Amino acid sequence: MTTVALKDVTKVFQDGTLAVDSVNLDVNDGEFMVLLGPSGCGKSTVLRMVAGLEDPTSGAVMLDGEVANDLPPRERKIAMVFQDFALYPHMTVGDNIGFPLRLSGVEPLPRGERIQDVASALGIGDVLGRKPSQLSGGQRQRVAMGRAIVRRPGLFLMDEPLSNLDSGLRAELRAEISGLTRELGVTTIYVTHDQAEALTMADRVAIMRKGVLQDVGTPTQVYGRPATLYVAAFLGSPRMNLLEASVYVHLDRYITLTLGDQALYLPWDDIRSRAVAHYHGERIVVGMRAEALTPVAPDTPGDVLQGRVRYLEHHGHESLAFLDIGATAIVVDEMGAPAEDGPSGQRGLRRFGQVMQRLAGRAVDP
Ligand code: ATP
Repeated sequence: MTTVALKDVTKVFQDGTLAVDSVNLDVNDGEFMVLLGPSGCGKSTVLRMVAGLEDPTSGAVMLDGEVANDLPPRERKIAMVFQDFALYPHMTVGDNIGFPLRLSGVEPLPRGERIQDVASALGIGDVLGRKPSQLSGGQRQRVAMGRAIVRRPGLFLMDEPLSNLDSGLRAELRAEISGLTRELGVTTIYVTHDQAEALTMADRVAIMRKGVLQDVGTPTQVYGRPATLYVAAFLGSPRMNLLEASVYVHLDRYITLTLGDQALYLPWDDIRSRAVAHYHGERIVVGMRAEALTPVAPDTPGDVLQGRVRYLEHHGHESLAFLDIGATAIVVDEMGAPAEDGPSGQRGLRRFGQVMQRLAGRAVDP
């Protein structure tokens, strides 16, 4: 049972680097929270402050509702897993896993049983006698996980634990780690710069940029309703299309979004569109996911934007068309149904499903 709360936590290193800037974040008991962001955004520093390896310059790190700023790391009931695994090369797998138990004085017999349980749960019960050098990367990672869970910590802190593995193994271990932590019910904070990892593993994702927390939410929330333009552009592959548009609300109740010399009409009876009405007369940035536009033939009548195809990219599971709408480059998922091109690569695009509008970093989901 562990909850974590960061209250206005700031870290300025001695050389003046502002690594973490007034971060507020609550992690619930048993939750799998992923800290996501580009290199240098302060993720590891947050993790190290939760672990007690780094002192906050100001603010409070709270564990189970108590301020823990002065609590030494060993009294925090946490286990950490790092990307380099940090196994002892001269010890067997079993001794590596059991090391934390030996340190805390657990007798050999119960220790052996506990090691066996943990190793079986991780699928490495048959390599307990080997040395780390005789293991594959994935097995080494499982040993590191085993050593972390053997003491039944209340809180797991993981810093890019899969980044040294190849992509197939990463995907496999992703599911294993999140499955295991949920089974154990252990609160977990997991640091990564890999958004696929974040979106597939997390209960909630906290996205950071330059020390500042940008957005916190479930994967669906941060993908579908990003709180800032930065998050909108950062999450998702291909990136979200961001187009500048002017909003005009007509008296007979429909809304025009003007993109360059083209217009997109939003019906008034759609509650999502109506949220944009608030920005009447203003220029906003409209975010549209590649999957929110359907390609159609360029002469299709109705509410269709005209784009010029620059090139197509086939990825097996999706087929992306890169187009220009006026001066703006966008990408569209053709979903296996490419439209006929018109003269000189002209193509129509029909709005499909959700379109996101935003102004100055504020998200409105029409
Ligand atoms: P990465 O994914 O590359 O590990 P990160 O998001 O985890 O990046 P941090 O390691 O937390 O980022 O670093 C945040 C900022 O603080 C960076 O600008 C980094 O250079 C700086 N920093 C980290 N540790 C120190 C230190 N001991 N002294 C000075 N600056 C530091």
